[in-house]
Amino acid sequence: MVPQPPPPRQLPAVDREQERALKRRSVSSLASSIDSGLLRAVPMGLVLRCCGRQWGSRVVDEYHLSRPVNEIDAFLSHDWGTRRWLKTATMMVHFNSVPAAVASLLTCIVACLLIVLRVSDGWLPGTLAIHGTYWFVFVCWQDLRGLCKKNMVFLDRICIARHDADLKTQGILSLGGFLSKSRKLVVLWSPRYFTRLWTAFELSAFLREGEEKEKDIDFAPASMGPLLLYFSIFETLLVASFHILVLRFVESVLQEQKVYLKNESSLWNFTVAMLVICAPAFLVVAPMVLYLGTMQMKALLQLRKQVDEFKIRDAQCSCCQMDHCQPDTGEELLCDRMLVFETLKRWYPLETSSEACLDRFDETVHKELGGYVRNRLGAGAPPLRHIVAISVHPLLGFLCMYVYLAVNAHLFPWSALAWIIGWFQAPPMVYLALWEFLQMWRLGVRFGDRCSLWLIFLLGEAAGIGFNVAIWMQYTVLKYTFGHDVNGPVLGSLAFMWITFILPYVYEYSPKLFGLK
Ligand SMILES: [Zn+2]
Repeated sequence: MVPQPPPPRQLPAVDREQERALKRRSVSSLASSIDSGLLRAVPMGLVLRCCGRQWGSRVVDEYHLSRPVNEIDAFLSHDWGTRRWLKTATMMVHFNSVPAAVASLLTCIVACLLIVLRVSDGWLPGTLAIHGTYWFVFVCWQDLRGLCKKNMVFLDRICIARHDADLKTQGILSLGGFLSKSRKLVVLWSPRYFTRLWTAFELSAFLREGEEKEKDIDFAPASMGPLLLYFSIFETLLVASFHILVLRFVESVLQEQKVYLKNESSLWNFTVAMLVICAPAFLVVAPMVLYLGTMQMKALLQLRKQVDEFKIRDAQCSCCQMDHCQPDTGEELLCDRMLVFETLKRWYPLETSSEACLDRFDETVHKELGGYVRNRLGAGAPPLRHIVAISVHPLLGFLCMYVYLAVNAHLFPWSALAWIIGWFQAPPMVYLALWEFLQMWRLGVRFGDRCSLWLIFLLGEAAGIGFNVAIWMQYTVLKYTFGHDVNGPVLGSLAFMWITFILPYVYEYSPKLFGLK
């Protein structure tokens, strides 16, 4: 049974002068403007410091950490009940994964140039530098960017005063102003998001700014960060096994064993090595990706229902849950619900009663947010740019190895170009695996009630591995049949691999192109 919040108390009385000043500011909040002294933001570096310490459930007043600004780069809309580590990981994926991918690409270019110019003799330092650069920028981008221009974000606990009731009231009533001065709204969504008064109000207030503002909303489910990070680990282990495969192959060619898999002990050692490396990926990391992905997909599918059934009267806020009394100090708390209801009266001046204002707000949420959720959420797949950004560094590390082998092609009976095109077998394997995961999340949601999730994952993984091996084997067989040098059948086989993985992504992310959805 959902606990009903106790009835809100009246706002404490203020003297006439204060009231007049407050009303002046409240009216200005209606016009989405804000007093310059109230508009404050906090550097992103501070929000993510110490593994997102600021997202913890502390009640300390940290208003002094924010500073006055003219504009806010991103308004962070989230609920405090969602776990801190989920939000921190998702913020890092959302804000840092693309710069990290770009940095690893630049490192890859430099590493490859050093190999081509023969300054660097070996591929491992380059590969390690690519991985190192990626994770360094992924973890530290907010501080690195801060050296040049700080990314200033709005975090309610720090940017709205808590120590002073008047300042707090002004801050809350000026929320429309904070939102209108924000370039982006980042929604760190969790299943609790639309059950909370503040978060539903923030998203509605941003959409009220006009339809063109809709493109400035970034929707980031809080579980997306760990999910994509687990996938990155899975992929790194998978690509590491490719590295071993290539090394064993090179070793066998240099030892003049024409077909290395004919050597039984070599084949046995190779198989054991592959299994040892891939075992954690398939037995530990993949089930984690599948389970988290299924749970996220399930929650996202319930979101539409949640928005359709939203009622502001049932939305929860912490002040009412604490009975408007600060648990530590016993100090009386203002009711946020009353402040939001007051703002709604100003949003809808033509409505004659408070009840009508609340109904009107519910109607707006159902219509505008419902439409937004349907348009932006699509079929629940993570954003393509984050998928690419989180998975690019193992592939670049692999490219570094191929460039080294191409530079040393004189040791082999085929050309440098033949080595370079060999790299193109890796991306289809990685992205097909992720697409297969996505399908298994959907199967998990659809059939999870009727049979065991683990059975679905086991069958799905077996089918996925079988399909990927088949796609890869056709390339390997053609390469061994027609030779390693560049030739039509091998190029055709690679093209087939690329089409096989690109088509599902085009279908997933540009369904209108196909007229299929
Ligand atoms: Zn309250």
